[in-house]
Amino acid sequence: MAQGINKSPAFIIDRDGVINRMVNYSGQWDSPQKPKDVRLVDGIVDILHWLNERHIPIIEISNQPGIAKGKMTQETSDAIENRVHQLLASRGVRIDKTYICPHHPKGVVPELTRECDCRKPKAGLFIKAAKDLGINFSESVMLGDKASDIQAGDAVGCKTVLYLHNEDQPEKIEQTKRARADHQVTRVQEVLEILPKIFKLV
Ligand SMILES: [Mg+2]
Ligand SMILES: [Zn+2]
Repeated sequence: MAQGINKSPAFIIDRDGVINRMVNYSGQWDSPQKPKDVRLVDGIVDILHWLNERHIPIIEISNQPGIAKGKMTQETSDAIENRVHQLLASRGVRIDKTYICPHHPKGVVPELTRECDCRKPKAGLFIKAAKDLGINFSESVMLGDKASDIQAGDAVGCKTVLYLHNEDQPEKIEQTKRARADHQVTRVQEVLEILPKIFKLV
C-alpha cells in the first residue's frame, strides 16, 4: 500500500477482550496465557468479514506486557498470537497487520522493562502503522475494550468505539465505563450498525 499522499481509512482493533475473549483463571480475568485458552469473541468474525469484503485494512494493536513481566515466554506469546490468527483464518477472515508492544514499566525482563512510546494509551504503534501503511486517521476507527485503547485512538484522531463487556475485574469495568468513546456497545454485533456510517458507506 502506498505511503504518504495516498492515505486510506483503516480499522484499528485491540486484541484481548475484543478479538479473543478474556479468560477467568481462578477468579481473576486475564488475557489467554496458553494457545488452547484462546476463544473468539462472539460476533467479531462478522465485523472482520464486513471489513475484509470492503478492502478496509484491519490493523491489530495490542499491549502484551506478559513477557516483560515474566508471566510467559516470547514463544508462548507468539503461539497465542498465532492461535488467534489461525482461528480467524478458519472462519475465513484475516487481519492485515499486527503491532505489539511487549514492554512494561514494571517488568522483570531488563530489555523489555521501560516507559516506551508504544504501550497504549501512547500512540507509538499507531504512528508506526501510519508510516507503514498510509492511514488517514480522521477516517479511521479504533475498537477497544479499555480506556487506554480509546485514549490512544483519540490521540491520533480516530473515531473510537468502546466494547464494554463484563469479562474483567469489577473495579476495572467501572474504570472502563468512564472512558469517553464516540460510540459504546455492549455486543460486538452492534459495531456492524456503526461501521457504514463511520466509513461513509451508507
Ligand atoms: Mg483489550
Ligand atoms: Zn512498548
